[in-house]
Amino acid sequence: MRYTQYLLPTSKETPADAEITSHKLMMRTGMIRKVAAGIYSYMPFGLKAIRKVEQIVREEMNRAGAIELHMPMVTPAELWNESGRWAQYGKELLRLRDRKENEFCLGPTHEEVVTDIVRREIKSYRQLPINLYQIQTKFRDEIRPRFGLMRGREFIMKDAYSFDVDDAGADAAYEKMYQAYRRIFSRCGLKFRAVEADTGNIGGSSSHEFMVLAESGEDAIVSCGSCEYAANVEKAELKLSVGKAPAPVAATQEVATPGQKSIDEVAAFLQIEPSQLVKTLIVTTDTDEQVAVLLRGDHELNEIKLCRYLGCNHLELSSDEAVEKVTGAPSGYAGPVGLKLRLLADQAVQEMADFVVGANKAGTHLTGVNIERDFKVEAFADLRQAENGDPCPRCSGKLESWRGIEVGHVFKLGTKYSEALGATVQDEAEQERALVMGCYGIGIGRTVAASIEQNNDENGIIWPMPIAPFQLLITMLNPKDEAVRDASEKLYSELMDAGIDVLLDDRDERPGSKFKDADLIGIPIRVTVGARGLQEDAFEVQERAVGEREMIPVAQAVQTLTERVASALEAGDLS
Ligand code: ATP
Ligand code: MG
Repeated sequence: MRYTQYLLPTSKETPADAEITSHKLMMRTGMIRKVAAGIYSYMPFGLKAIRKVEQIVREEMNRAGAIELHMPMVTPAELWNESGRWAQYGKELLRLRDRKENEFCLGPTHEEVVTDIVRREIKSYRQLPINLYQIQTKFRDEIRPRFGLMRGREFIMKDAYSFDVDDAGADAAYEKMYQAYRRIFSRCGLKFRAVEADTGNIGGSSSHEFMVLAESGEDAIVSCGSCEYAANVEKAELKLSVGKAPAPVAATQEVATPGQKSIDEVAAFLQIEPSQLVKTLIVTTDTDEQVAVLLRGDHELNEIKLCRYLGCNHLELSSDEAVEKVTGAPSGYAGPVGLKLRLLADQAVQEMADFVVGANKAGTHLTGVNIERDFKVEAFADLRQAENGDPCPRCSGKLESWRGIEVGHVFKLGTKYSEALGATVQDEAEQERALVMGCYGIGIGRTVAASIEQNNDENGIIWPMPIAPFQLLITMLNPKDEAVRDASEKLYSELMDAGIDVLLDDRDERPGSKFKDADLIGIPIRVTVGARGLQEDAFEVQERAVGEREMIPVAQAVQTLTERVASALEAGDLS
């Protein structure tokens, strides 16, 4: 490709709405252009990176035995009614009507559509296992689209669905996808971890998210410094504490804490540590039950753990009015003593004595409070968020916390959809069985964005070779110099003949501005053709990631460069 004939609108300006590095760089290199909130055009340079990721995904899915098909983006309400998700899905599901008033939605995921295909086409266990995948545009009317392709409303996803006759088969299918994902993200040049994830209200036994390590990531993760354990904090278990509370020493006392509501305010006011306080949170479940939960002052509630304990799908902190109604005090002063509500406590509270709580009375707290003596709890459970430095639930190591971007998700679905839609086969004993499913997603655009997030410097993108839009850039220093032009053209056509994806910067611009653009667009190998080098019969070569310059003889250029591209392509390959 010749730069002068290409559309690569680079810019020094960063758009105001681009908050994170990858979004800024994708805008500045003209990879994407916003059409509406969370909806983008993939410009030529961006599309090339997207296609490269798609190709890696396709190769690895095929290698793992999955079969590609393509399902529609517009899907009929009937299918979603069969699974019950037409009613369950919230506003993320974009619903529409056709001219005959039939209801449809834009597919945010395709369990229903693929299960419909399988129930029609697969009748016997002999046709199994099967894993069907597509690389296709999804739509989710995200409440807060942001960060460019990272969280769009319209985005490209690879989604795969496995069908097996029994759990053992489904486990094997899951393992295959898990390994394929490791290969995919390694080949994309990403530093990632597979972490245990919450299975949400879809249920199911097992789920891993593939997380790319990045400061800007939306997910909080903990992993053990000593063993392989890694989990989303939503899910991370904590070791059940074995410690018992010391015997109470203090008597309960009311203290005035006027205007002091938050844990930090009360702790500072009473000159104690937040960990000597117990906070009382009052939550309302989706069945309108109110429950009080006790946590050590410096700990955070994990709503997902609490939901799972209570067996509800959703809960939220009760409103100020609701809190006032049950405690008789404005929020900020709730406490367990005398509270007439179901009362649970995080296990860490079990080890505490002579602590401080709200007094259920405006501007007042109680000090010297103790469980059993002053109030009783229904149960102690693991209800808090894991934090940096917590003990590992698997070994004697400590947990470290970091942030990550979820680029992929593998999920054991069980028989939820096959039972709802009647996708069954006859097994060996001629028994009718609901198929055991798995689903496996990869965000293609998000993977490109995540790769940029990890591979950049202050001057621009540093593409890993396997997903670089172009593998090699030839910078023709002075296109008016005939020797320079001829040598560049010859190298360009010979490299293309050798199968290299080359961009030839044939623009008549100052070298300084060409080098700036070269840094910005980040093509891994750069060859500069200039009059001075040619006098020595050499080209200057520089790798974007390394930065050092070297001269290579013109006669060996094609072979040397071809070899370098090939070895950089293999770098992330696990095979
Ligand atoms: P998230 O928690 O980030 O909203 P999710 O768990 O809802 O994602 P899945 O249903 O597991 O997403 O979808 C599979 C993959 O699709 C995700 O791992 C992610 O890479 C990608 N993806 C999901 N939502 C978006 C989005 N709004 N924009 C871009 N990619 C997305
Ligand atoms: Mg997910």
